Parts: sequence; C-alpha cells; structure tokens
Amino acid sequence: VPCGVCRQCRRHMPEHCNGAERRQAISGLMADGTSRLRYDGAPAYPFFGVGSLAEYSTVRQEQAVKIDDDLPLDEFCLTGCGVVTGVGAVLNTADVQIGDTVAVIGCGGVGINVIQAAKAAGATKIVAIDAITEKLELAKSVGATHGIDARGDVAAELAAIEPEGADVAFEVVGRPELMEAALSYTRAGGTAVMVGIPPMGSKFTFDAFSVNANRRILGCRGGSVIAERDIGRLVTMYRGGALDLGILVGQRIDLDSVFTALDALGSSTFARSVVTF
Ligand SMILES: [Zn+2]
Repeated sequence: VPCGVCRQCRRHMPEHCNGAERRQAISGLMADGTSRLRYDGAPAYPFFGVGSLAEYSTVRQEQAVKIDDDLPLDEFCLTGCGVVTGVGAVLNTADVQIGDTVAVIGCGGVGINVIQAAKAAGATKIVAIDAITEKLELAKSVGATHGIDARGDVAAELAAIEPEGADVAFEVVGRPELMEAALSYTRAGGTAVMVGIPPMGSKFTFDAFSVNANRRILGCRGGSVIAERDIGRLVTMYRGGALDLGILVGQRIDLDSVFTALDALGSSTFARSVVTF
C-alpha cells in the first residue's frame, strides 16, 4: 500500500514507500490502527498484513487487486509472491534486453519465473544453475537454453557457453557465497541481481577491481513490485502463453499438511506446494 505522500512515493519509487500507512498495513492494521481479527477474543494480526495460510482475512482495499473471474485461483495464488518477485527481478530491476545472456542461480518457485520472464524479455541464452536435476529439467521446460549442475565446475561450464560472462546473473537462493558467484559470472559491464533473501548480518566479498570494470550489483526486494501495476502484467503474460503457472505447482495439499510441506522445502524437487481448502 504505497502511501503516495512520503519522500520515496514522491520520487516515483512507491515500491520503497516508507509511509505510516504501508508500515501499518504490513503489521496487519487497518487505517484506524486496529486489527479486524480476533482469536479467543484477543486481537490477532494477519501474517505480513496478508494472512497467509488463514482461511479468512481482512485487508485494506488498496491491498487487493481484482483479477478476472475465469483465471484459476489455485494457480494465481502463486502470483502474490514468488511469481511477481521473479518476473519483477527481470523486468523492473535488471531490465533484461533482447539478445542478452542470462544466468539464474536457483531454479525453485522464484527462479523458474526469472527464467520465464527472461525468455519473454528476449534473452537469447538462459543458463539455469541448480543442484537438483528435476529443477534443471523444469527450468528447461519453461525456456532455459542450458542447464548447469551446481555441484560441478559452474564457472567453467558457463565460460564454455558464454566466454565473456553473462550480461545479467541472478542469485535466487539467498546465500552470500552464491551472490559472490553471481557477480563472478558476469561480463565486464554486466549486472548481478540479488533476488534471494540472505540472513540478516551476513556478508559477501568480491574483487573490487572487477566492479571497477563497470559491473553493477543490484538489490532486489520482492521484484520491486507495485501490485496494481504488476499483477495485471502477469495476467497479460499468462493469457499470452509467456507465463506458465501450472508448471510451478508440484503438489496440492490440505491445511493439515502445511508443516510437513514446509519441512520438505529445502530438498523438494518441484517449485511450489499449493494449499487448498
Ligand atoms: Zn509512500
């Protein structure tokens, strides 16, 4: 919920809004400063202001984006986070160009969408990097032109595909050492985009001279998404066949199976679980 009046909003960067309304909304508070939800009579707060995994929630009107009735909700539920993040990383943050070579480290529920958007943006070579074979296959099925097993010599394999390095390398895992790797995979003048969320306080190091060669390191929080602008763009991509959402759904589970699915996240061979109720 960009407030429209803070310094960031006035600089036309509402994705960085720091206004009170937005901070309240993320805390699950309505405009009057209260929560509409109760648990055993006491105030309860929807997780992240959304109410993930709740059967019902109350959110502000500005937080809701209406989509057409014929779109499948058990696929479009994915657009609220991982899909807008992956697509936004390509279109909002990196601004991938036609003919670019793109490397994507991590081909899960976000990375797969980086690949789909890179293809839609016109990238010629899209190199998927992951340690799980099934995820590399998934990546190729949505547009990756090459797959590299992360357990091997990634730098050498990438150099064989694109000797100068990638125009854009995305880190979509959230591990500092992979952010170092992403930067090292770029060509002079190339861009490394940090999409994954690293542990707070973690650090990564890089060869300062390599950045002197006009390389850029870009942070990317949630794909710099403005929901009212970007959800509609996802619908257009979906209808035009540029965005496959069904392929992301590895399993459909009920609410009682949520914790088992969360435990299995680190080793899953598919992109996403969808909870139906
Ligand atoms: Zn604002």
